[in-house]
Amino acid sequence: MDEFGIIRRFFTREPGAAGVVVGIGDDGAVVEPTPGLQQVQVIDTLVEGVHFPSNMPAADVGYRAVAVNLSDIASMGARPRWMTLALTLRDKDESWIEAFANGLFDAAGEYDVALIGGDTTRGDEVVASVHISGEVAADDVLLRSGARAGDMLYVTGTLGDAGAGLSLFEAGIPDEYLVTRFLKPAARIHEGLLLAGRARAAIDLSDGFVADLRKLLDAGGVGAEIDVGKLPLSDALCARFTDEEAMAFALTGGDDYELCFAAQPDDVSGVAGITAVGLVTDGPDLVCRRDGAVVDVDEGGYRHFR
Ligand code: ADP
Ligand code: MG
Repeated sequence: MDEFGIIRRFFTREPGAAGVVVGIGDDGAVVEPTPGLQQVQVIDTLVEGVHFPSNMPAADVGYRAVAVNLSDIASMGARPRWMTLALTLRDKDESWIEAFANGLFDAAGEYDVALIGGDTTRGDEVVASVHISGEVAADDVLLRSGARAGDMLYVTGTLGDAGAGLSLFEAGIPDEYLVTRFLKPAARIHEGLLLAGRARAAIDLSDGFVADLRKLLDAGGVGAEIDVGKLPLSDALCARFTDEEAMAFALTGGDDYELCFAAQPDDVSGVAGITAVGLVTDGPDLVCRRDGAVVDVDEGGYRHFR
């Protein structure tokens, strides 16, 4: 099957999505933005062997390619609208492409984002770049900068599950909950929309809590005091790992795709599924405490080219 057959058969699905004037099939897509809103543009690339193991199920690769981008849209407080896909395929068979497309459209359907175009090429490994544009009111956009001393720091969901899930997946140990948290990250779009205009600063947790929190603090020129005893841990994580291991996954494990944000408590009261984990301080130190005592935390999140 040639490039055009692949596009037609696997990626052309949704005529008439909202705001799509021209979708897949012309030289470019034409969309109608919502008047008065600003656009947020994000792109993220998954490279086989770097961002996902070669044996990861194709449907999960497709899902993940969308979800990691949706997470960036969520951290900006935006609503996802349209996406494009640049897909490089090795010698993948049609069943792989079909499963990949199914996973991709699963994520797209869950979060109401339309695939409006892309590019399909052949290469030495699978590379999936997804670009998503979202919309947000100018006053509501959430930036990394903006945290001020006295703000509380919060996270959504639970931390460390995906890092633990990856280690189990690589070891071939089944664990429905933790492995799924790695394979199929949930984008916090709903929470991001609730926090838009209410939180002062936000970032999504892709490289690990400490590494990403550091970026939020640097962007705001502030520091923080974290009570690591308050980090939200899932029952599944605590059941399978020791306290120390669970804490290490929560602090430095990547791929959780939860949101970390700074806010005044009154501004985010009523937002479900968030946990206060510390306080923003006059910069620049990031101090972690457990039961009052300062603990050393390895900041080594995942970094490229290290
Ligand atoms: P061009 O040669 O003008 O760049 P292509 O032949 O690459 O156009 O693509 C034809 C159409 O198919 C375009 O609308 C493009 O956006 C779309 N497209 C190509 N690859 C994909 C893909 N993997 N997923 C979705 N749409 C795609
Ligand atoms: Mg092209």
